[in-house]
Amino acid sequence: MQEDFLYYLWKNRLFESTSLKSINAEQIEIINPGQRNDDSGPDFFNARISIDGFLWAGNVEIHVKASDWTKHGHTKDRAFDTVILHVVYDADVAIKRADGSTIPTIELRGKYDNHRWQHYLDLIQGASKWVPCEKNFLDVPEIVRHQWFDRLLVERLEERTKSIKELFIQTRNNWEESFYRHLSRSFGFRVNTIPFEILSSSLPLATIGRHKNQLVQIEAILYGTAGFLGSIHNDDYYTKELKKEFRILQIKFGLKPMSVHLWKFGRLRPGNFPTIRIAQLASLLYHHEQLFDAVIHANGFAELIDMLDVTASPYWSRHYSFDATSEFSEKNLGRSSIESLIINSIAPFTFFYGQYHQQDYLVQKSLIWLEKCKSENNLILRGWEQIGLKVKDAAGSQALLHQKKMYCDFKKCVNCGIGNYLLKYP
Ligand code: SF4
Repeated sequence: MQEDFLYYLWKNRLFESTSLKSINAEQIEIINPGQRNDDSGPDFFNARISIDGFLWAGNVEIHVKASDWTKHGHTKDRAFDTVILHVVYDADVAIKRADGSTIPTIELRGKYDNHRWQHYLDLIQGASKWVPCEKNFLDVPEIVRHQWFDRLLVERLEERTKSIKELFIQTRNNWEESFYRHLSRSFGFRVNTIPFEILSSSLPLATIGRHKNQLVQIEAILYGTAGFLGSIHNDDYYTKELKKEFRILQIKFGLKPMSVHLWKFGRLRPGNFPTIRIAQLASLLYHHEQLFDAVIHANGFAELIDMLDVTASPYWSRHYSFDATSEFSEKNLGRSSIESLIINSIAPFTFFYGQYHQQDYLVQKSLIWLEKCKSENNLILRGWEQIGLKVKDAAGSQALLHQKKMYCDFKKCVNCGIGNYLLKYP
C-alpha cells in the first residue's frame, strides 16, 4: 500500500463510508475531507467530521500503518495536536494524544474497490521509461487535458516566482533593480547564467543609470566589471575607449572586475558568446532607463517584441570576441532569443508583479505573452512529442515541463489531472 493512494481515496471519498465506524466503534461521518496540505504538518486541513454525532473541524492525518504516527515523530510535534481523525490502511496500534486521549482512527483496508488499487499500480508502474501513463495519456479528452495544462502553467509560474521574490527582498523591494538582475540572468542563456548573475549583482542598475546617455560608458562599465577589459591583447580604437572609460568609472564607483574565466565560450554558437550578449544587454539598458516600466506598459505583444529587438553596437558587427575580427553581420538579439527572454524572465516577472499588486490584467498579460511565444524545443518536450503530444506555444511547453519535472518524475499520479481521469475512467 502507498500513502499517495490513500490520499487519493480520502480526497475523493472513494471508500465505503456509510455506517463508517472508527476502530473504537465511534460513528464517523465525513462532512468535508478538507484540503490537501503539501507543506509540513497534517496531510489534510480544514476537514469537518462528525464523530458520534458531534461536529469537529480540524486536520486529518493519513498513514499506511497507524504506528507510522510514532515513526514519523508526530507524537512530539505540536502541529499534530489539531488532528481530529487518523486515517490508516492498517490500524496496527492505537495512537494517543499528549493528553492521553485516543485519536479517532478509521481503517480503509477492505473498504475500497480493489480494481482501483490495480489501476493505480498499472498507472504508476507503467513499463514506459518516459512517463508511466504514456500508453493512455492521449485517451484523456482534450478538454480535460487543456484545463489541467492551464492549471499547470499557473503552478509553473508560481514556482518560478520564488526566486523573483528572493531578488525582490534582496533589492529592498526595488522593482527595476530586481527585474534588471533577473533579466540579466536570462541573458546568460543557460550556459552563462551564473556569470551574468554575478555581473548584475556587483553592478547596480543605479550605477549604470548614471551613464544612461552614453552607450560607450554603459558598455565600458559592463565589460570592465565582467573582467573582459583586462584580458584584451589587440587594442583598437573601440577597446582603448572602453578601457579609458572604465578606468575612470572603476575608481568613481569602486568596481571590482570579475574573473574573466567565469565566462564560457566553448560549444557555444558565436552569436551566443557572452561578449555579444553583454553588448545586447547594454543596448537594451541604453534605450530604456526604466526597462520594467516600459515592459509592463507595452501596448501589445508586437510592441514588446519591438522594444526588445536591440542590436549590439557597430564594433560587434565585425567581432564575436575582442581579439578576433569576423565577417560583417549585425548582432541583433533575434526573435528566438527575445522569446526565450520573455518565457524565462519577462513573463514570470510580470506575473509576479501582477499577483503582488493584485492587478489581474498583468497576470493575464503574462499568460497571453506565453501563448504568443513558440513552444520551446528540448529533450523533455521531444519526449512528449514521441508519445504524440505536440504543443504549439510556450504556454503549452511550460506546462509540459512542469508536468514532467513536478509530477511524472515523482509519480504523483493521484495529484495529477491526467492521473485522476485515468483512475476514474480506466
Ligand atoms: S503524473 Fe500524470 S501525466 Fe505523469 S505519469 Fe502520472 S498520470 Fe501520467
